[in-house]
Order: sequence, then C-alpha cells, then structure tokens
Amino acid sequence: MLDNLLREIVTIVVGKQAEPIADLLNSGSHVNEFIIAKKLDVTINQTRNILYKISNFGLVSSIRKKDKKKGWYTYFWKFEILKCLEFLREIYSKKFDELTQEIRERNEKRFYVCERCNIEMEEEEALAKDFACEECGDLLTVKDSSKVIKDLERNLSKIKEKMDAIDVEIEKEKISLEKIKLKEIKKAEKEKEKKKEAAKIARRVKKKASEKTVKKKTVKKKTSKKKTTKKKTPKKKTVKKKTVKKKTSKKKTTKKK
Ligand SMILES: [Zn+2]
Repeated sequence: MLDNLLREIVTIVVGKQAEPIADLLNSGSHVNEFIIAKKLDVTINQTRNILYKISNFGLVSSIRKKDKKKGWYTYFWKFEILKCLEFLREIYSKKFDELTQEIRERNEKRFYVCERCNIEMEEEEALAKDFACEECGDLLTVKDSSKVIKDLERNLSKIKEKMDAIDVEIEKEKISLEKIKLKEIKKAEKEKEKKKEAAKIARRVKKKASEKTVKKKTVKKKTSKKKTTKKKTPKKKTVKKKTVKKKTSKKKTTKKK
C-alpha cells in the first residue's frame, strides 16, 4: 500500500513519467543520486530536476558527502515518509470537502437542463432566461439529480476509503519513528552510563593514589563538620516558628477591618 501511495505522490508532484523514482527513494536510507540516475536510465541533471521538484514540497531529505579525490559533493536522497503521507492526505481531504459540498448543493438546489443541447444551469440562471434555452429556444426542464448524486456519493466513499488507508500508513509510520527515537534515546543513555562509569573509575583511582598520604587529615575534618551541622538545626526551627506567629497576627488584623 505504501509503495502505491508514494508512486501516486510522485505522479502528482512531478508527473507519471517520474513514477519509478518512488521505489528508489523508499529504501529506508539515503540513496546516491548517481545510482538513482543510473537505475532510472536518465542523466544526473534530469534526476536532480525530479528530486528538486519533490524537495520543494518537503517530501524528501538529503545528505551530502564530499568526494575526496574529485573535490565535489554528491547528494544522497530518501523520502520523508510521514510528510509524504500527510501531503497526500491533505489532497484527499480537500477533494472530500469539495465533493461533500457538491453533493449538498445537488440536494438543496434545483438545476435546469435543455436535453437537446445538453446544457445545465442553476435555477436562478434559468429564471433569468425565462426557462428557455438560449441555443434552441426549447423549454428548460428540471434536472433529475438523483443519478448525479449517486455518482458523487460513490466517489466520496472511494475517497474516504483512500483516506482511511493513508491514516493506517500514517499510524504505522509514527510507530516506527517512535521506535527509532526510543532506540536513539537508549543508545544515548548507554553512552552516558559508560562515561559516568569511566569517570567513577578514574576518580577511584585518583582517590586511592592520594588516600595514603592524606588519610589522617580527612578523618579529622569529617568529625568537625558533624558538630557544626548539629548546632545549626535547632536555630532554623525557631525562625520558622516566629514566621508562623507573624502570619497569624496579620490574619487577625485583616479580620478587624
Ligand atoms: Zn437547447
């Protein structure tokens, strides 16, 4: 299904003749533009023209690599699948709205026809012409819209089916993007953990090296620190109580007012 949708997108954006590029851009990783040109059997300039047209809609992404020997850049391309699907969905969504509007008009308004000339018009226009055909002078008759409406509704349900299919693909793509993201996060976390571990080991090694020389001094410092912290804690409690008292006194004064 996705393959078909991507081919359809290329046809809409570039034209039917460019359709084969769709399969090449849907390989998951970026593809060398020279390989694309070779596989399509067109020149590199023709290939780039197609790619730029698709790129104008933000449907492909590219990376470039410098050729160390020749000194020029080669571009690598791939579809941005989610953007492609959202682009196509937007097109069908517009079609859906237009058809819905047309069906509503067909149901609400009366149309008049000249069956001989196969001309159709809205009631207002027919009234202005005194319900006579401008071409042949025949009397215009009320159009039976039921068949037209049926056709429109059939089209509408096809479009709805297409939109549902696109939605399924969008959900699939979102899930796979989420998985990729999670993988990257996990990878980054592992890297962090590795660095932390390395830093820990380095610190331990340093400590051990210095411990032997300053062991006695550090023990003395630790005991003195403990004493000072014990003294500080009760002071804090009294400060807190005072602020509470102030608050209650303020409340009393506001009540009197
Ligand atoms: Zn006529």
